[in-house]
Amino acid sequence: MKAIRVHEFGGPEVLKLEDLPTPKPSKGEVLVRIHAIGVNPYDTYMRAGTYPLKPALPYTPGSDAGGVVEAIGEGVSKVKTGDRIYTAQTITGAYAEYTLALEGQVHPLPQKVDFKQGAGVWVPYGTAYHALRHQAKARPSETLLVHGASGGVGIAALQIARAMGLHVIGTAGTQKGVELVKREGAHRAFNHRNAGYQDEILEGTANRGADIILEMLANVNLSSDTKLLAKNGRVIVIGSRGEVTINPRELMSRRASIRGFTLWAITPGEEAEIHAALFAGLENGTLCPIVGKELPLADAARAHKEILEPGSAGKMVLVC
Ligand code: NAP
Repeated sequence: MKAIRVHEFGGPEVLKLEDLPTPKPSKGEVLVRIHAIGVNPYDTYMRAGTYPLKPALPYTPGSDAGGVVEAIGEGVSKVKTGDRIYTAQTITGAYAEYTLALEGQVHPLPQKVDFKQGAGVWVPYGTAYHALRHQAKARPSETLLVHGASGGVGIAALQIARAMGLHVIGTAGTQKGVELVKREGAHRAFNHRNAGYQDEILEGTANRGADIILEMLANVNLSSDTKLLAKNGRVIVIGSRGEVTINPRELMSRRASIRGFTLWAITPGEEAEIHAALFAGLENGTLCPIVGKELPLADAARAHKEILEPGSAGKMVLVC
C-alpha cells in the first residue's frame, strides 16, 4: 500500500510517500480501506515535533479518515467487512491507503455522507461538540461567537449551534469565507481582517456581548474576546499558536471565564456521547461536513503548507 511516512521531525518536506506492506488485523482490530483523509492543523504541529504528543519515528500521520472495513480481526463484533465508517484515531495512521484501527476507533458513516465528508467528521465535529456541550454548556437562546468559523472546526460549530437553537455569529478572513459562514448557519458574519470588526460584533448584540466565544486563534484574539463577552460569558480556547496578554479585570466585571481543552483528553463517556450525537446529526442531515480543498495523498506536503495559510473554506482532505 501507499502511505505517507515521517522519518524525522521537520518541515512539510519530511512527509514521504512510500510503499509499505498492507497490515493485517489482529484480535480486536479492523483493517480499513481509506478513501479520504482529513488534514488537521495538529498534524502539522506533530510533524514539526512541536506538539506535546510526539509519536515514535517513523510514523504515518493522521487520525481522521473515511473508508470501508476491508477485514476484521478475531472478536470484532461492532463492524463487519464492507461497512462504511469514519475513524477517530487509528493504530497505524490515516495518511495511507489502508489503516489498522481498534474496533472502538471506527464509527458508522450514514449512507448520505460520502467518504470525503467522513474524513472531516472526527476532529472538527468532535471538537466543536465537546466545546459547545461539555465545556461551554451552551443553552438554546444563548449568543455564540465562532471566532474563525470558515475552517473545519468552525463550520462544525455553526451547524451544531444552529441545531441547538443558539444565536450564531461567525467570522472569516475573506469575503468567500464570510459567505460560507452565513450559508452554514451564522445569523451574522464578519471579516476578522477588517479594522474595527469587533465593534461591529458588539453593536450587533446591542452591546450586550456574546455568552460564548469559541476561539480558534487565542494568541491573536483573547484580549479583545474578553471585551466581547456578556455577563457570565465563557471563552473556550480551541486553537492558539503563541502567547497573549489579557486584562483580568475584563473577566472580573463580567463574572466571565476562559477555558481550554484538547480533544485527546476527553473521557470515554464524553467520547461515546459525541459519536452518538454526531451519528444522529449526520443521519438526519443537520450536520453536513463541507469539503473545501481536495488533494491526492501524494500531495500531503502541499496540504501541510496550505492548511496553515489564510483563506479557509471548509475541510481540507487528501484522497486515495
Ligand atoms: P482550519 O480548518 O485550518 O481553519 C482555521 C480557522 O482559523 C479558519 O476559520 C481561519 O479563518 C481562522 N482564523 C485565521 N486567522 C484568524 C484570526 N485572526 N481570528 C480568528 N480566526 C482566524 O483549522 P481547524 O481545524 O478549524 O482548527 C482551528 C484551530 O483549532 C487550529 O489552531 C487547530 O489546531 C485547533 N484545534 C484544536 C483542537 C483541540 O483539541 N483544542 C481540536 C481541533 C482543532 P480564515 O482562513 O478565513 O482567515
